[in-house]
Amino acid sequence: MQVANPYIFKIKPYVPGKPIDEVRRELGLKSVIKLASNENPYPPSPKVLAAMAKAAREINRYPDGGCFVLRRTLARKLNIDDDQLIFGNGSDEIICLAVKAFAAKGDDIIIAKPSFLIYEIASTLSGARLHQVPLKDFRYDLEGIKAKINAKTRIIFIGNPDNPAGTYITQRQLEDFLRCVPKNTLVFLDEAYFEYVQAKDYPDTLSLMKKYPNLMTARTFSKMYGLAGLRVGYGVARREIIDILNRLREPFNVNSMAQAAAVAVLGDEAYYRNIAREVNEQRQYLYRSLENMDVPFEKSFTNFILVNVGGDSSQAAAGLLKKGVIIRDMAVWGLKGYIRVSIGSASENQRFIKTLKEIL
Ligand SMILES: *Cc1c(COP(=O)(O)O)cnc(C)c1O
Repeated sequence: MQVANPYIFKIKPYVPGKPIDEVRRELGLKSVIKLASNENPYPPSPKVLAAMAKAAREINRYPDGGCFVLRRTLARKLNIDDDQLIFGNGSDEIICLAVKAFAAKGDDIIIAKPSFLIYEIASTLSGARLHQVPLKDFRYDLEGIKAKINAKTRIIFIGNPDNPAGTYITQRQLEDFLRCVPKNTLVFLDEAYFEYVQAKDYPDTLSLMKKYPNLMTARTFSKMYGLAGLRVGYGVARREIIDILNRLREPFNVNSMAQAAAVAVLGDEAYYRNIAREVNEQRQYLYRSLENMDVPFEKSFTNFILVNVGGDSSQAAAGLLKKGVIIRDMAVWGLKGYIRVSIGSASENQRFIKTLKEIL
């Protein structure tokens, strides 16, 4: 038998959710809705579909390994240089590249608990020592994180807003924090929900990067931009960091359909702004409905809500599933009594609320 990297066995295998069709067949239900993966509930815009159809006709060719057009388009939009960008097969890949590049056995990585699972998986695999600082009242305990920083700390991951809590740290909090972090520690700000946040004091990470060269951010086309199935995300940092990550990545890590669709998305902002507006209205609907039911929840700055169903959330999750509503049970993330529900279309959200009333 081959000898595997021993760190692999520290990782619990990722348990993927069941496809909607499979759940429908198994339970003999007419319709099943999935509010479990923070996806955009709407189909891509006509312009995006047209761009994908065009790209499909050239799928016999390898993709552009440099993501030339996408890079140009995005750099202009963000007002940064082309060489401050790296693209990945989802922003998950950017997270993994950062760990591979900057942390190894004997180093330290700090994350929050609970937090986005990929930070933990990537860090564990690297052999680095992982410090998990518990959230306080569902917010980052930045003082607690500072206390864990030492000479070996290579990366600090901050989901902003984080998943599953849905809360964010402010510009002020981030700056105060950055002042205390050694310059050889990478502060990785994961902004997967950037496009949804509507808070005036949300950090302007790209500007802060000028002052703090150890800051980087990752964003994605999977969430508000609705391209989760294509896998495309990006990282922004100063060019020295990007250069290092570029050496590590596979030459054709972003497929050509994804590149074409992402460019089209950026050319059709109005369509996606409308979706974001709808999601914000639906978030209010869910808040109101949960309040009326006396079900506590965390205020979220994303397209998902952490809901405190109390007692055994696994039972609630199973009850919802039986009636065709797939959500995420948070007990496995150490949040007993909580479920995470993604904000769906108006009719999906109504069905979630109706079903939740039935099972509680
Ligand atoms: C969804 C998500 C991502 C990334 O998703 P990709 O599809 O890989 O781009 C990253 N971070 C957080 C916190 C997320 O919730």
